[in-house]
Amino acid sequence: MLSGKSAIVTGSTSGIGLGIARGLAASGANVMLNGFGDPNEIEAIRQEIADGHNIKVLYNGSNMADGNQIAAMVTEAEAEFGAVDILINNAGIQYVAPIEEFPVEKWDAILAINLSSAFHTMRAAASGMKSRNWGRIVNVASAHALVASPFKSAYVAAKHGIAGLTKTAALEFAEHGITVNAVCPGYVMTPLVEKQIPEQAKARGITEQQVISDVLLAAQPTKHFVTVEELSALVNFLCTDNARSITGTTLPVDGGWTAH
Ligand code: NAD
Repeated sequence: MLSGKSAIVTGSTSGIGLGIARGLAASGANVMLNGFGDPNEIEAIRQEIADGHNIKVLYNGSNMADGNQIAAMVTEAEAEFGAVDILINNAGIQYVAPIEEFPVEKWDAILAINLSSAFHTMRAAASGMKSRNWGRIVNVASAHALVASPFKSAYVAAKHGIAGLTKTAALEFAEHGITVNAVCPGYVMTPLVEKQIPEQAKARGITEQQVISDVLLAAQPTKHFVTVEELSALVNFLCTDNARSITGTTLPVDGGWTAH
């Protein structure tokens, strides 16, 4: 379905990004992985995906908080693959605390990684996509691009920002065969969510079990976590030719959360 195409998936050594990378590879696209982690584990993942689908899989460890490293990553992917046709802006971090106690360095890091990185990747990759008159950009936003929750000031600000960036880029690129969409997951049980359970418990003065039942799943009418596979399937579809008229959207995948 996507054979002959090449993709960058930021933050794809874990969680949702890894699931999306696996899905694109299964559809025949070459993939550049990015993210942090144990080098041996990352190499094993890279090798496994490449062997499983007979495609080229590369790893680039650029820090998504650094615009220069991001530009170099896109240049490397264009040189190695010949093109970057698909760009998935997925890298993200979370921190949960009341505004008065929110560490300034966490605010800066969340804005850089969850929002500015997508500007830097698009800025670097758009010319190539325009020259080929084809491109797919999917920003992994969040239900928090559409609604807020307390104690997540930086994350909600960054995710609302990415919704605006998605719409702006969609308008700028619309006549060049490039679509730009944001997918907006509710809670997915990945390391990012596992880590915030004790933080939420502390910020709210409740137990970790109460965080799962009364905070996380309370937001989702379906009362179950969204899965990585569900997100991967949607992103895959957005990258196909059949999705060429879907652009500038913020698509909730949140079990009904934002229907409230
Ligand atoms: P995760 O922690 O499992 O994965 C995050 C990935 O980003 C990892 O590969 C990590 O190495 C990478 N990363 C972090 N900082 C980086 C940096 N500075 N440079 C490069 N890579 C970096 O988290 P996840 O839950 O899979 O989250 C992925 C995306 O999905 C994030 O943008 C997150 O905001 C979004 N999201 C997650 C949920 C959820 O419930 N898990 C819900 C909505 C949106």
